[in-house]
This record gives sequence, structure tokens and C-alpha cells, in this order.
Amino acid sequence: MITKKNLIFLGAPGAGKGTLAQILCEKEKLAHISTGDILRAEIAKGSELGKKAKHYVTTGGLVPDEIVAEMVASRLTQPDCKPGFALDGFPRTIPQAELLDKALAKIAKKIDAVVYFHAGEELLISRLTARLTCKKCGSNFNRIYSPPAKEGVCDRCGGELYQRPDDSLETAKNRLKLYNEQTAPLIPYYRSKGMLSQLDASMSKDKSYPALLALLK
Ligand code: AMP
Repeated sequence: MITKKNLIFLGAPGAGKGTLAQILCEKEKLAHISTGDILRAEIAKGSELGKKAKHYVTTGGLVPDEIVAEMVASRLTQPDCKPGFALDGFPRTIPQAELLDKALAKIAKKIDAVVYFHAGEELLISRLTARLTCKKCGSNFNRIYSPPAKEGVCDRCGGELYQRPDDSLETAKNRLKLYNEQTAPLIPYYRSKGMLSQLDASMSKDKSYPALLALLK
């Protein structure tokens, strides 16, 4: 039984935020808000937002703060966020965290916990470059650590698995560099507010999921 339900999942790409957010949100009926998933869907649709975001997403850069913050602010007003939500991949900069606070204040909500997924850089690179993502439902697998039962097919929905272009070695390294420069400062930012809990993200999901639940009690 968890009591903390308005959540931020913070951590480097490849730390496993998306995987645990998906499991948690399904079981606890929370809204899973992955800004990366939303942006990829907008790019696939060819929407105005997708056109603005495409260059940043494909090169592993960060989409401008105002664009993502507005996208999240609008998403948070959807009815499925009422029981709670897990923000996965947002905020990624201090200005985004400040814009989030403003958006939450407008709808009289607050964050209950920020979970920091901690893992070493070598593990992150090996996870990212071997990651396989479902085209249909966004589930993640890994060629080495958690291969799907049938090659190329999603265990969850039967969709086709692919390697995200930004999971290539070069782009993954660029994303980690940006994470260290722009996102890591959010760790002391939320710690100083007494909101941060740390999760050892080097564990497999069978071990890290119970550890996550314990943090959210
Ligand atoms: P992710 O799926 O979280 O790894 O995000 C994939 C890509 O989407 C990132 O490399 C960025 O280009 C973009 N993106 C996702 N979330 C954000 C964010 N909060 N701020 C800026 N760019 C983002």
C-alpha cells in the first residue's frame, strides 16, 4: 500500500525509471507521464509540437523548457491524473522544476516524493545501447539483461521491438553528458527541500520494484 502518489522519477537515461513507472502506474492506477513517450508520439504524428521537438529528440538534446513544461501542465489537468501520477523524465532542468511548481499550484496539487534512481555510468551505457523498445506500448526490454520471450516481439502487447535511434552509443553518451550538466543539479535541489528518496537502480526490476514500494509507503 503506497501513500505517496504524486511522484517525480529522477535519474539518468537508462536508470530504469520508465520500466518501474510503467509497472507502478499499472498496479496502482496512476497516470504514467513520460515526456519522452509524449514527444516521440507527437513526432510520429507530425504535429506542430512534434516538428519543433524532432531535432532535439533525435540528437539527444533537450527540448526547450517552456515547450515541455506546457505539455506537462496540460497533461496534469487530465482526469486520469486525479488518483496520482508518476512524472518520468520531467523535470530535467531547474527551470522546468520551477515551471512545474507553478503548474501544480494552479491546480492545487503538490509532489509527494521525488525518487532518485541511482546507477553507475558504465551500467547506464550498457543498458541504453542494448535497450529494445516496443513501437506500440513503449515497454522496454534489454538484449542482455531482460530479453523478450520471442525475439523482436513485445511480451506485453505483441508489438514490434526496435532500437531507439537515440540509444546509439554516441547519442547515449551525449544524453548522459547533458544529464550530468542539466539534470543532476535537481538532486541537491530536491534533497534540500527534504523531498528526495534514493533508489539503487543497479538492481533488476524484481528487486528494485519492492524497494520502490517501500519508499512510497
Ligand atoms: P526519454 O524517453 O526520457 O529518454 O526522452 C527522450 C528525449 O526526449 C530526450 O533525449 C529529449 O530530447 C526529449 N525530452 C524528454 N523529456 C524532456 C524534458 N523534460 N526536457 C527536455 N527534453 C526532453
